[in-house]
Amino acid sequence: MKNPTKCLHSGYTPQNGAPGTVPIVQSTTYRFDSMSEISALFDMPTAHLYSRFSNPTTDAVEQKIADLEGGVAAMCTSSGQSATLLSILNLCSAGESVVCSHAIYGGTYNLFAVTLKRFGIEVIFVDPDADEATLEAAIKPNTRCMFGESLSNPTLNVLDIEKFATVAHRNNIPLIVDNTFPTPILCRPIDFGADVVIHSTSKYMDGHAVQVGGVIVDAGKFNWENGKFPEFCTPDESYHGVVYTRDFGAAAFIVKARMQLMRDLGCYPAAHSSFLLNMGLETLDVRMRRYCENAEKVAEFLSASDKVESVIYPLLDGNSQSEKAKKYLKEGASAVLSVNLKGGRERVTEFCDALKLVCREVHVADIRSCILHPASTTHRQLTESQLVEAKIGEGLVRLSVGLEDVDDIISDLEQALKIL
Ligand SMILES: *Cc1c(COP(=O)(O)O)cnc(C)c1O
Repeated sequence: MKNPTKCLHSGYTPQNGAPGTVPIVQSTTYRFDSMSEISALFDMPTAHLYSRFSNPTTDAVEQKIADLEGGVAAMCTSSGQSATLLSILNLCSAGESVVCSHAIYGGTYNLFAVTLKRFGIEVIFVDPDADEATLEAAIKPNTRCMFGESLSNPTLNVLDIEKFATVAHRNNIPLIVDNTFPTPILCRPIDFGADVVIHSTSKYMDGHAVQVGGVIVDAGKFNWENGKFPEFCTPDESYHGVVYTRDFGAAAFIVKARMQLMRDLGCYPAAHSSFLLNMGLETLDVRMRRYCENAEKVAEFLSASDKVESVIYPLLDGNSQSEKAKKYLKEGASAVLSVNLKGGRERVTEFCDALKLVCREVHVADIRSCILHPASTTHRQLTESQLVEAKIGEGLVRLSVGLEDVDDIISDLEQALKIL
């Protein structure tokens, strides 16, 4: 099946007379005829037991996303942040490390550089455009995985997934890719060698800004029996001696994440959130194509304006990312643009305030166009020199192009640009 069909039909096949749409199973618990059935489920979880770690509504969404990404299984989480956290904790304990691209979302950076450090997990940041030898030199004997964003938020760096996968696999460790911005419609990291794919489903997947969520997808290809990951192929005493690779084969990673981490940490989404996410997923293919179309036109308009210093959008010719974008984002580069405007902080703030259609919001990848001025909001704690280092100029705005008619978006930008 192709993507538009998977978006509508994967994950839920109604039986004769059953509801046509995925039902919201708003139940904490599941009832059985005998204690022995429940006992058997504790040994081999083949049915839902308790909604802290699985639920039929969420299960349908998990299957749909796994199918779209080309993975073997998936697990939803209550936020993108918890998907990132669990993907790392499933591999790393205190005293171990991760090698990570420095072009990542600010929330992920904070989780890695501050909170994981307090847990005793070291995250070693690397320049994603460094050559293989430099990346390899960052890997230590205790490094358990590599991590990067396929299209980074907000710097829009395109990850050379094949390069990262080659270096990771040469060192017998898996590659985790955060694929939030492209979604599986524009890029499937597993096709380029990623072993685990994560998302904030709060962005394009939902699209309508109605739920916060995340997901982890298991490619099912990594060889956990290479000697580096004994916890995947020896009995788990906290789970009646289950051996993940022996008992769950290709889905070892995701089953371990569910049985150990989701059981203990409990950051599973509510059924109602999964129902809302599923509605977003149903139109994901159609929406991603229109987002890209609109964004390309807006990028062209802005780069031709004399009020604009520069536009960062991976598919624009002459952009430092365009070669990689042609390989990894053939279908489009999603719809977030970084725009450096002429005029200082004050004038640029006035420009944002003068917009009538494009809304001022702390969000991206929404169905409605929205804008944020990082220097006075998300990055306001930074000093002037830190802003320079983070490449967040005073004139930089992050514009997330929505699904309004593109002429309306452009005329709104045009009238506000007169302020500059
Ligand atoms: C937003 C975002 C996250 C965090 O997701 P939440 O759902 O807000 O917790 C992680 N990665 C990327 C790339 C994001 O854009």
